Amino acid sequence: MRGLAEGGGAYGAAKVYVADDLQLEAPLSQPRVDVLAQLVRDHDVDTVLFANSVLAADVAAGLAARLDAGLNWDLIDLVQQDGKLVGKRPALQDTVYVDVGWTSEPRLALFRSGSFDPSESGGSAEVEDVPVSLEQFSTTARMVDQAHEESSGPSIEDAEIIVAGGRGLGGPENFTLVEELAKALGGAVGATRAVVDAGWYPYSTQVGQTGKTVSPKLYIACGISGAIQHKVGMQGSGVIVAVNKDPNAPIFEFSDLGVVGDVHEIVPKLTELVRARKDS
Ligand SMILES: Cc1cc2nc3c(=O)[nH]c(=O)nc-3n(C[C@H](O)[C@H](O)[C@H](O)COP(=O)(O)OP(=O)(O)OC[C@H]3O[C@@H](n4cnc5c(N)ncnc54)[C@H](O)[C@@H]3O)c2cc1C
Repeated sequence: MRGLAEGGGAYGAAKVYVADDLQLEAPLSQPRVDVLAQLVRDHDVDTVLFANSVLAADVAAGLAARLDAGLNWDLIDLVQQDGKLVGKRPALQDTVYVDVGWTSEPRLALFRSGSFDPSESGGSAEVEDVPVSLEQFSTTARMVDQAHEESSGPSIEDAEIIVAGGRGLGGPENFTLVEELAKALGGAVGATRAVVDAGWYPYSTQVGQTGKTVSPKLYIACGISGAIQHKVGMQGSGVIVAVNKDPNAPIFEFSDLGVVGDVHEIVPKLTELVRARKDS
């Protein structure tokens, strides 16, 4: 913890506050809100920025309520305009950027993950421990269990190849088709919201507006219609290949290669071909 705090100096932090306390060990929001609210009040902090995660979104919302502060979320940039801080936020399914501001302080903001690259500026940070004193109501929730998802192969954020499945697969059992192809190609499996909502595949694999934004070298969409909310999460892929039985499916409008056919026929053949090519 202390090593991490000191390391913040290399990236421009002049001061790092550390709240190292067992009461903050569980990933629960309210104890964190207590500590942050106290820091903001004690040091007259005017701006608090969060990198988005499920926990950070919860903490930011709790802090906004506690401090009666304005929270802008899903920002991808922050600039000074006429002496004021202005946030940039994608809107209308990521087709436009809008400017957003705050009418009061403290200003709170949640940033879309991956919006900034870390930039080393050198220097060292002063590290200060902060006392942790929790409100009674913040200690009433308890974490009873924590489980980690088992996964193998590359995650969809890191994968150079993604084979994604949609409702056209017909059922959860047919995800083996995309899994086999992904395995043969050394890639990861992605999914549409329709199938994760239906419980066919884990939420962590959802690509799109409310899922992950990915940009692999190759994206193979199997039985996916190509709704705008899916498109915004994968349109940055190098080569997009679509397999869909409907020649008018929207996915073909932004695919580099399209196969009009049944996923149950095409995908296993593709897997076979890839395996044969690898073996030869
Ligand atoms: C606010 C909001 C946010 C959303 N966020 C997301 C998001 O993050 N990600 C996301 O994916 N969606 C998102 N959606 C949902 C999105 O609008 C679509 O409903 C969803 O992407 C459709 O998933 P799908 O392509 O699997 O299913 P469908 O639209 O039902 O498409 C299935 C496709 O499979 C084809 N097909 C059927 N049978 C076969 C077969 N045997 N062989 C080949 N092809 C076949 C069909 O022709 C069809 O094109 C969001 C929606 C809203 C309103």
